[in-house]
Parts: sequence; structure tokens; C-alpha cells
Amino acid sequence: MQQNQHSNVDTETARRLLEQERKGLEEILHAREQEALEETERESFQDLSTADQHNADLGSETFQREKAESIRISIEGRLADIDDAYDKLDKGEYGICEVCRRPISEERLKARPETRYCAEDAAQLTRNGTGLP
Ligand SMILES: [Zn+2]
Repeated sequence: MQQNQHSNVDTETARRLLEQERKGLEEILHAREQEALEETERESFQDLSTADQHNADLGSETFQREKAESIRISIEGRLADIDDAYDKLDKGEYGICEVCRRPISEERLKARPETRYCAEDAAQLTRNGTGLP
């Protein structure tokens, strides 16, 4: 395979890191689904005995649910980035910043293997309010 740019991590390491990352994120997603399921069961049981108290808690429960939802969305976004990272590995573009086209540091790739940007550009994008990692 020919590469114009050189990534700081080799393909094998990158695949291993991405695989680990994906597994970890999927476990979090799965645990959250399980939690939500148990929560629903508990609630329907509570409804029978403590309906008044349940109503009082409704506000914070909605908040908890919204928070859980935003975490789920961010995890799914990262899983999509991991898929993209696999594509880049195939094209030999993995580990190259999408903005400046320079190789992303090995340290950063190990901490967040699905990242699209180098530390400088990620900081820049965060400052600009795009909210990207
Ligand atoms: Zn960059």
C-alpha cells in the first residue's frame, strides 16, 4: 500500500485501538439500555404503590432521561466516527488531520483513536463552537 502521508500509528495498532474503543462504547450503550429497561420496570411497579411520590419526581426524571439521551447520541456519534476511521485505514488516510492534513500525534490517537483532527485544530473547532472533540 502506498502512502503519501505517514500516520503516527501503524495500521495494526490503529485497528486494535479502534476495536477496543468500539467494544467499550458498545458496552456503555448496552449497559444504558439495560438500565433504562430496569428503570421502566421499577417505575411501573412503583406506580401501584407510591403514585403521589412518583409525580413529585417527574421533573428530575425527565432531566435524567434527557441527559441519558444526549449521552447516547454522543456515543453513537463516536461509533460513526470509528466506522469512518476504518474507511480511512483502508484508504491510507488514517491518523491524518482533516483540517491541516498533518499527522495526528500518537498520544492523541491512543487516547481517542477515532479522532478526525490534530490537537490544535480540535481546540480551534471547539473554540468556534462546533462542539467537535
Ligand atoms: Zn490539524
